Amino acid sequence: MVDLYCSPFVDLIDRMRLEYQTRSSMFDLPAKKWFHPSADPDAPDLSTTFHGRPAGNPVGPAAGPQTQMAQNLVLAYLAGSRIFELKTVQINDRLEIPRPCIDATNIGYNVEWSQELLLHESLDQYVQGWMLLHMLRQSPETFGNPFSDSPIAGPAGDFLFDMSVGYDLKGIQSDTVRRFLSGMLDASKDIEALKALLPDRLMHLRDLDYPSALSSSITLSTFHGCPADEIERICEFLLTEIGVDVIVKMNPPMLGAERLEYLLHDVMGYHEVTVNPEAYTSGLLFDESIEICRRLDTLAKANGRSFGAKFSNTLEVVNHKDFFTPDNKVMYLSGPPLHVITLTLAAEFRKVMGHAMPITFSAGVDRKNFPNMVACGFKPITTCTDLLKPGGYGRLPGYLGDLTAGMTKLGAKTIDEFILKANSHGDEAGGDPVLAGFLNMADIVKETQADPRYTQAKNQMVPKRINSHLVVFDCVTCNKCIPVCPNDANFLYETPKVDLLYRDIAVQPDGTIKEVGEEKEFKVERTEQIANFADYCNHCGNCDTFCPEYDGPYIKKPSFFGSLKAFEDGAPHDGFYVDAQGERYALLGRMDGVACRLDSLDEAGKSYEYDDGVVTLIIEDGRPTELAGLCSGQPHPPHIVDLGRFHTLAVLLNSITSSSRVHQVNAPLVASGAP
Ligand code: SF4
Ligand code: SF4
Repeated sequence: MVDLYCSPFVDLIDRMRLEYQTRSSMFDLPAKKWFHPSADPDAPDLSTTFHGRPAGNPVGPAAGPQTQMAQNLVLAYLAGSRIFELKTVQINDRLEIPRPCIDATNIGYNVEWSQELLLHESLDQYVQGWMLLHMLRQSPETFGNPFSDSPIAGPAGDFLFDMSVGYDLKGIQSDTVRRFLSGMLDASKDIEALKALLPDRLMHLRDLDYPSALSSSITLSTFHGCPADEIERICEFLLTEIGVDVIVKMNPPMLGAERLEYLLHDVMGYHEVTVNPEAYTSGLLFDESIEICRRLDTLAKANGRSFGAKFSNTLEVVNHKDFFTPDNKVMYLSGPPLHVITLTLAAEFRKVMGHAMPITFSAGVDRKNFPNMVACGFKPITTCTDLLKPGGYGRLPGYLGDLTAGMTKLGAKTIDEFILKANSHGDEAGGDPVLAGFLNMADIVKETQADPRYTQAKNQMVPKRINSHLVVFDCVTCNKCIPVCPNDANFLYETPKVDLLYRDIAVQPDGTIKEVGEEKEFKVERTEQIANFADYCNHCGNCDTFCPEYDGPYIKKPSFFGSLKAFEDGAPHDGFYVDAQGERYALLGRMDGVACRLDSLDEAGKSYEYDDGVVTLIIEDGRPTELAGLCSGQPHPPHIVDLGRFHTLAVLLNSITSSSRVHQVNAPLVASGAP
């Protein structure tokens, strides 16, 4: 079991402000990769509405790995997201997710679904993310004015949270899920509790305006296979008893086996992919979806709410690869082929349902097809698989850049004008952008089905590997593993170059020590190193996919835990924890499963107490000088101390606590001015 641990709220604020002030980035996303809305009043206005509420633009992260933790929400916002579909929550918040769970090698498969946090932790993360975004907008000076003149305090910065809940009526009606929902509808208590944590130096942040209603809409996620009447009962419950606007997520098999497989196999050439046959019969069918959507739309209107459909869920296919563990008989397909299938399904649905029903879209969305999705009138348009590719969240500004360019080219000042002009259906639609979006869709579906970029032939490349295996220090330092992590678990830290010779130490039963064995070399060749913040790492495997070296950054690079509890719970995985409680830092470690500890005895980094799990040595200038104790307190037979481990710990301790580069491990230390 790999658990996620959320960082203390104040640590997140400190990390954001210190990181921005020292290197113009937040959560490792450089400011030059953010979306900076234009301050030019003549620039195209990307703003939109969702369920009648304003948002700065129609793009956002889909319910998934990019919307689970507070830092994910900040990263998505910095990159331009304005409508966030929060990670799906459900009653079973102790799921055992198989690892790895994300295969974004090319088209995208996964075996992960709902939240990996406890329900109350999910609520807490959403409240924290909400407050952090309001801080960024309302108190930019706290962070060093990261958006400069870009008007994120205005409409271009408006954002919305859309909840996602699953998966059955019983769970959604349970007390725990109801508590979560009421916490999202009115988070005033949680907001006050978080405000109370702010220290004096951040006291001014207490006075900002944090709206207490985090969300008033839900996208319903149902199990692949949830029957139609249950879906309808859940929507009724949400619309009437909970009192929220509702979007129901549709499943790709609604297109029917013949049409779906024609597109998948004959048009796009994914002959190796087999749809799970049960998916066609076990879930919502096309005709049923039309019937229940009509009834629910009427019910929503009668209750002053809005109702719509989301296209779509992932596609359940037979696991034909060896990426996931073999017990995963099925997996969920996303990315380019899903885009074509889902867009076709959405068009069929609209033809029968009518063009007025709001549609949200998420399936293989990327920079190139995003303007077309806007032209179809979808909102929001959410993305996930594309953000798992190299560049991560930093891919999002391209979406908005291309939309802006498209609008400029057409002389469209607003999204509605863009929809009217995009495919020249404005007149035919009588100036109605909703109808124009529907008319555009017919052209865009044809164009998309014929576009070779969605075919298997264009999506079979795998990231290149070189013949090299990762070790603790040094690697190609391509830095790909940092942005591809949705949680910002991988990070750079700085080290001095090290090149020294050492010999191991024999500790005799009488307590004398002496150097033994061959002389060995300890080398650190690069000044920038990769580490992993274990609290944020759920072993999804995505950084391994894109690392050019073998064995996985999250496994081979040093993992640092944010608390002693997380470090202890993380056993037997190797890792480290910086103990800053005493007068000097100490580094607790597990290396190859063996517990060890290094205590710094001076500020110069020359004098240490090193405990290798059996003996404790005093080490001065890299050389052991005396035996300080036996870990068991008992006499022992001759014992060989691997001094290479000491050198590893010493480099890690000094480097990770250095303020030369702020990251999640040292942010609280730098903020507190600890030694
Ligand atoms: S560090 Fe790698 S394995 Fe861990 S969460 Fe991030 S991408 Fe996934
Ligand atoms: S661990 Fe891999 S992906 Fe990360 S910087 Fe090193 S070589 Fe690149």
